[in-house]
Amino acid sequence: MMNVVLGAGISGLSAAHYLLKTAQKAVVIESSGNLGGWIRSVRKSNIVFEQGPHTVRVAGDGGPNTLALLEDLGLEDRVSAIKSDHPAVKNRMIYVNKHLHMLPTSIMSLLTTSPPFSKPIVSAIFQDLKTPPKVCEDESIHEFVERRLGKEIADYLITAMIRGICAGDGKEISVKFLMKSLHEAEQNHGSIVKGIVKNVLKKQPVKPRLPGTESSLYNKARNEKWSIWSLTGGLEVLPTTLATFIHKLGGKINLNEQCTEIKFDSGKAIVKTRSCTYEADHVFSSLPAYKVAPLLQAQHPIVARELASIPTVSVAVVNLQYEGKLLSQEAFGFLVPSTENLALLGIIFDSVCFPSGDNTVLTVMMGGRWFTDFLGADPSPQKLLDMAVGYVRDILKISVQPQSHIVSVLRDCIPQYVVGHHGRVARIKQYINENKLPLSLIGSSFDGVGVNDVILCARRAVNNIHLK
Ligand SMILES: Cc1cc2nc3c(=O)[nH]c(=O)nc-3n(C[C@H](O)[C@H](O)[C@H](O)COP(=O)(O)OP(=O)(O)OC[C@H]3O[C@@H](n4cnc5c(N)ncnc54)[C@H](O)[C@@H]3O)c2cc1C
Repeated sequence: MMNVVLGAGISGLSAAHYLLKTAQKAVVIESSGNLGGWIRSVRKSNIVFEQGPHTVRVAGDGGPNTLALLEDLGLEDRVSAIKSDHPAVKNRMIYVNKHLHMLPTSIMSLLTTSPPFSKPIVSAIFQDLKTPPKVCEDESIHEFVERRLGKEIADYLITAMIRGICAGDGKEISVKFLMKSLHEAEQNHGSIVKGIVKNVLKKQPVKPRLPGTESSLYNKARNEKWSIWSLTGGLEVLPTTLATFIHKLGGKINLNEQCTEIKFDSGKAIVKTRSCTYEADHVFSSLPAYKVAPLLQAQHPIVARELASIPTVSVAVVNLQYEGKLLSQEAFGFLVPSTENLALLGIIFDSVCFPSGDNTVLTVMMGGRWFTDFLGADPSPQKLLDMAVGYVRDILKISVQPQSHIVSVLRDCIPQYVVGHHGRVARIKQYINENKLPLSLIGSSFDGVGVNDVILCARRAVNNIHLK
């Protein structure tokens, strides 16, 4: 079977790899001259700066699958793991009312009152038990948490988490993005706590692991209690190694070739680029939804309209390196809730996560859902650098100048799973199935925005085609 894969980000490359492993043919078409999409690791002054993702989680459905992929690619020795007792895992902060606050890390800290909260976090359980359920298909995660667990948790914790995970607004993002099971608990049992208790008592059957996701590396990760990991040399090692394997397995990756149209005729897909036309048995598109929409517009305007309605946000990323160890607190970093009304989304303490010599390495993220409001349509690199250095000075009290820096604006880099997203994705998939289109939509616009999610989505899409 001949397959065309659109996009050479981590989803597209994973899909091509899985296809070739099942003896199918694959050509990857990538509009830019680079591999890896948003995964970008830049080496400067002997430091690896990550402009996109920094770390990947071990837990969750996708965690074991990605570790199995690493093992398959022979990357076990490159893994740089952070264990669950490391300060970068245990210590996470939020910036509220012009102060950094450590988030609770132990059962005891949940029982005591610590700022910015005016009550112990555990009191949220009582609010949940006494609040009547609201029957609804979907709502914002902020609305759900405010009603069930209280305003402070919604304002400080939830908006900060949403800004950290997808640079979005908790008042717009669907509760199903992060709390699908808690929402279901309310809908089915009347409250989060009752739902959790009933599920525990019911003894849920153990979910069977997706075939092919077992690996010695995952067993090692579990035994050694890894929480997150990266790769020596940066996460970009993963897409570049995948590309090497794709070539070895007989696949092709055509860089600097932009897809301009996809049409379907007699069960085949016709994929047009500026210079070529490909006929394929199946197309795997890993492009962001807003970029797939125009490609399908001519033949499938209904689905194109749905795809164009999935919004994205842009993020300004400023990587900074300072000489010496300057941080007064070892932590993963801190996030800024929406209540602070700042362009700053958060700062990652890279040099706490990974050895960086006698340096302090930080990544400052700004903008997201509020990019234009705070930064303007097209901020200059100097303006972004000055803002980032200013935040580091004011909040982290580091007043020396950085030794090196990289400023980048990642345009439309993170899709927003706003209220109604899951319904929209279900309608898109139903349309594709009903019209028997040989098309799989993978990538971060649909079933999860993290690295693990998109690799797992690529694997599932390839498995599904195999079963047809
Ligand atoms: C700032 C930032 C920080 C993040 N941090 C984390 C993190 O810490 N942990 C984590 O798990 N995840 C993180 N993520 C998410 C993670 O990076 C993404 O889920 C993942 O990189 C998405 O990969 P993808 O292949 O689906 O899409 P992309 O990387 O967007 O790849 C799509 C590719 O398609 C190409 N393309 C576009 N249009 C066309 C066309 N018409 N024809 C051909 N090719 C085309 C693009 O050039 C691109 O290479 C972060 C993302 C960002 C932006």
